[in-house]
Amino acid sequence: MRKRALISVSNKENITEFAKGLLELGYEIISTGGTLRSLLAANIEAKAVDEVTGFPEIMDGRVKTLHPLIHGALLAKRFNSEHIKQMEENNISPIDMVVVNLYPFKETLGKPGVSKEEIIENIDIGGPTMLRSAAKNFEDVTVIVDPTDYEGILTAIRTETLNIETRKRLAAKVFRHTAHYDAMIANYFMEETNETFPETYTVTYEKVQDLRYGENPHQEAAFYKAPVVNTLSLAAATQLHGKELSYNNIQDANAALEILADYEDPAAVAVKHMNPCGIGVADTLSVAFNRAYGADPISIFGGIVALNREVDSPTAEKLSEIFLEIIIAPSFSEKALEILTRKKNIRLLELPMSGNNSVNHKLTSVNGGVLIQSQDNGKISKEDLTVATKRKPTEQELEDLLFAWKAVKHVKSNAIVLAKGKQTIGVGAGQMNRVGAAKIAIEQAGEKAKGAVMSSDAFFPMPDTVEEAIKAGVTAIIQPGGSKRDQDSIDVCDEHGIAMVYTSMRHFKH
Ligand code: 5GP
Repeated sequence: MRKRALISVSNKENITEFAKGLLELGYEIISTGGTLRSLLAANIEAKAVDEVTGFPEIMDGRVKTLHPLIHGALLAKRFNSEHIKQMEENNISPIDMVVVNLYPFKETLGKPGVSKEEIIENIDIGGPTMLRSAAKNFEDVTVIVDPTDYEGILTAIRTETLNIETRKRLAAKVFRHTAHYDAMIANYFMEETNETFPETYTVTYEKVQDLRYGENPHQEAAFYKAPVVNTLSLAAATQLHGKELSYNNIQDANAALEILADYEDPAAVAVKHMNPCGIGVADTLSVAFNRAYGADPISIFGGIVALNREVDSPTAEKLSEIFLEIIIAPSFSEKALEILTRKKNIRLLELPMSGNNSVNHKLTSVNGGVLIQSQDNGKISKEDLTVATKRKPTEQELEDLLFAWKAVKHVKSNAIVLAKGKQTIGVGAGQMNRVGAAKIAIEQAGEKAKGAVMSSDAFFPMPDTVEEAIKAGVTAIIQPGGSKRDQDSIDVCDEHGIAMVYTSMRHFKH
């Protein structure tokens, strides 16, 4: 009996060549409306599905292939006598190959101004059903969901090497594909119905690239992205120069971008191992970078710098004086590019920094599961602060305090930041006790600590951190407040005429 292939594709790329190949190999082709028209237009002999089913395509294509004469033909086991008998009784002749790709749901979601009706219409029903029927019956049926497989399959048929292992691999690909497709639909509905933490949580990602290795050379890794990237994502960046990004590059660059998203004025952020080592804000980008650099000229070595304005030549000159792994900016002037590309190894990334930069959920993997939380979008303004001490901060101190508070949110806990004049001058990150983090920040600030302010990501359990800060010359402090022993810290501040304000918001980061 002549082998039969059912072809129903939205993406018609290379389909006529493939169908021609199948015809030459003796296959009979069955096809749905639009696909049939394309094949016939290319003079490829094919039969309409409704001719096979005796039932028309109805409801604007919602029902085309959903018929027992199709699904019986796909699901029947070829070596099962009951199935064979039932095929005969019901006039079902087997279909040996399914070639389907689905309505472009993802592309439709991404279309500007798309209507909800159009999104719903682009949920494919019959396509995934056929794919799943064929994939379930992979022992007997070949299923192709990916146009890049066409050529290989034709060759395999020609050379008689299309075996069950190949069909199983194609089936596995189908189930990944339909799961991903359904996950995109599920996530769309989740947004529509405002469900934030439903009873099951669907995560689906697409591979961007394999990475040479993970955090260390003996670990394997790859970079995956969400199907629709609407965040300040590295997956949306264009690399203009330099070597391929590494696993650590991606994590650090992402940390830099998350920090940068908090600033509207020209800002520069330098990151090492996911912590900021310098943040500078100014009226011009080159001054902002000077500040980020001056914050800690040692740690920035080998770091990542993210900037929120076009890199101009003065900034590029300064950037080129130090060894950096990556520079990320919305754009680079021609001259700046010329300056920076003189360095062979530096990676230059261009990334539009406007639009929707919010990440709804943050996922952290733990053994056997994930923790999911909303992004720490907590913001504090002057009005939110309460003054705990006798002395109120001056206007200048207030400005510095808010700057230091914004920065400490992005530093791993326990975190202490010293700042002055829109520049971090000391960062104490990731310590197991708070006074330890303060000592690191103070030592790094050195003489600059005099007249600086200090922020702490969580309250002071005892007055030792405040004592260290005052010794170094800090004049004002910002922290959440709320410790049982707050009064001890207030007393020390009052004794020395230091101003301290509470945010009533904590910024732990792990
Ligand atoms: P065509 O362009 O050939 O008219 O349609 C091809 C598309 O229809 C493919 O993406 C295929 O997955 C989809 N399709 C095939 N059968 C059905 C069906 O019964 N219902 C729906 N909604 N889509 C189908």
